[in-house]
Amino acid sequence: MVDKITKEKRSWNMQRIRSKDTKPELIIRSVLHRMGLRFRLHKKELPGKPDIVLKKLNTVIFVHGCFWHRHENCIEASRPKTNSEFWEKKIAKNIERDKKHQKALRELGWNVIVVWECQIKKDFELNRALVEKKLGL
Ligand SMILES: [Zn+2]
Repeated sequence: MVDKITKEKRSWNMQRIRSKDTKPELIIRSVLHRMGLRFRLHKKELPGKPDIVLKKLNTVIFVHGCFWHRHENCIEASRPKTNSEFWEKKIAKNIERDKKHQKALRELGWNVIVVWECQIKKDFELNRALVEKKLGL
């Protein structure tokens, strides 16, 4: 269940544009850590600099903001009313880039996982279940 997005939340989302070590990413990292999984961060030599790289599982994880990467059928991905053309172009570029990077990673033999921001909860067990499901553990 997704709450209706508030103005405050939206501006909070905007501020975090393309920033490293965003909170959702930190949450997923701590879940992986508690699961005893070893990982590396932002590997520059891989296409798209994946947020998290699980070498042993041959898997890369992107933690994506629903708005910036347009999570399909997600209320968080709905466009702001002002400047919509500007954001539309920006987000279209992000999506294009995401597709290109994910394809390149798959061709290099990586499993590519996207964790959407709205899927991350406050509860550790719920997040662990999500990660396990995505990783096929
Ligand atoms: Zn979403």
